[in-house]
Amino acid sequence: MTKKALVALDQGTTSSRAIVFDLEGRMLAVCNEEFPQIYPQPGWVEHDPKQILRTQISALQRAVRRSGLHPEEIAAIGITNQRETTLLWKRDTGECVANAIVWQCRRTAEQVEALVAAGHGEEITKRTGLIPDAYFSGTKLKWLLDKHGLREKAASGELCFGTVDSFLAWHLVSGHPHVIDATNASRTMLFNLREQRWDDELLKMLDIPAACLPQVVDSCGVIGTLDPEILGVPVPVAAMAGDQHASLFGQACFTPGSVKNTHGTGCFMLMNTGSQPAQKQGGMLSTMAWRLGGKASYATEGSVFIGGAVIQWLRDELKLIKNAAESEEIATSVEDTGGVFLVPAFTGLGAPWWDMYARGLMVGLTRGTGRAQIVRAALESIAFQSADLLATMAENCGFLPKELKVDGGASANGFLMQFEADIMGIPVVRPRIMETTAFGAALMAGIGVGIYASPEETARFWQRDLTFEPQMSQTKREELMGRWHEAVRRSLKWAEDT
Ligand code: ADP
Repeated sequence: MTKKALVALDQGTTSSRAIVFDLEGRMLAVCNEEFPQIYPQPGWVEHDPKQILRTQISALQRAVRRSGLHPEEIAAIGITNQRETTLLWKRDTGECVANAIVWQCRRTAEQVEALVAAGHGEEITKRTGLIPDAYFSGTKLKWLLDKHGLREKAASGELCFGTVDSFLAWHLVSGHPHVIDATNASRTMLFNLREQRWDDELLKMLDIPAACLPQVVDSCGVIGTLDPEILGVPVPVAAMAGDQHASLFGQACFTPGSVKNTHGTGCFMLMNTGSQPAQKQGGMLSTMAWRLGGKASYATEGSVFIGGAVIQWLRDELKLIKNAAESEEIATSVEDTGGVFLVPAFTGLGAPWWDMYARGLMVGLTRGTGRAQIVRAALESIAFQSADLLATMAENCGFLPKELKVDGGASANGFLMQFEADIMGIPVVRPRIMETTAFGAALMAGIGVGIYASPEETARFWQRDLTFEPQMSQTKREELMGRWHEAVRRSLKWAEDT
């Protein structure tokens, strides 16, 4: 049968999705299955691995059914996933020794603080490109080995560690390959970014036996074929990449300096830096963009903890709006915020400030401040925080990108996108396909089976929908950024004494 489609499995934090695309990049069918979040203690987050697997398989089967295609018409499957989430399973049965420790889980924060206090921080950054944090997989794996007394079993090869891509590959692909793609490996805090291999020094530092680590593979390339029990035919599984990396790919950010910002609960900005990590990190992470034919492409990454979440806060806690979409109409009902700035440092501030003791504040309130000014200030805060990331990346790399590609739920807000263009001074471009993560994974799978010869060949599927041109004067931009930085300065270290 002629091959007509590519399927992306998008295993996210709250749901497992599957999307079927035709070979011209058009979406044919989608299926989304949510699964429960497990919070055993404050600050701890887990997922049941069986639920991840069940929802992902079911989403795949249902999406394919909805597409009306025969499974034999599917050329390949690509996997993209929530990153850093850590699983450990038995090599003989595939059964996990515990629930997955989710990227958000803070249970190893003290471990990381101890590593930094012992003077290992710079070494970790030099080797991995990461800023040491409980977010990454390394200390989560160490925690599992310590807690369950499994180090010996891990050393004798009885256990397999993996991120969600590895876990899915092991369970969905015939023959149970134990693999991880290079983008996911670059989020473990165990992977040497420049040398593209597990780092012995880091393994020693965290007391992790190499025998439990998966083999690092390219982001595009056939890992094996789907277990025929799932769709009835052995479809090639031909790509794996972390969600932000797949979205960078789906946004066709193939040349150094091309950059995207995903506006979800938080914001994730990634810029392609080409065949080398950025010379200067300046509070940003260095990470893999993807690896193709053994050739590494790198990216620099910064994130905003509270992005769209500030709009959820307006809705759920302050009850100022009924739904997220309404924020646009309310914000544009006034000319400006009347001098109000909102710094949503609810959980501290990330790049470029890195202050976990910063707390939220609203400043510049007057008797004339009302709902509209506050809603507008909340939306502007998403843009100001993103502008700080872009400015840091520009400074690290020595040039300002020529445009910013956007996606994610909050990028539907036209006011926010225009303000972001204004405050950054570059055009903000919204593509037609907003499912850039799944789109990227599907295109990568297409490369993996040779349907497309190169990433550049897939660039034609990326189409612009709307461009927001900057309209603000340089003077005004500098004045607003100056005021914003003053507001941020006042939010710093607020919770240090409490
Ligand atoms: P995630 O993948 O992190 O769950 P999504 O990409 O689904 O996030 O985006 C959801 C976020 O976007 C929410 O925080 C929501 O408040 C915000 N959001 C959605 N629509 C709008 C809108 N029109 N204006 C502003 N924020 C929005």
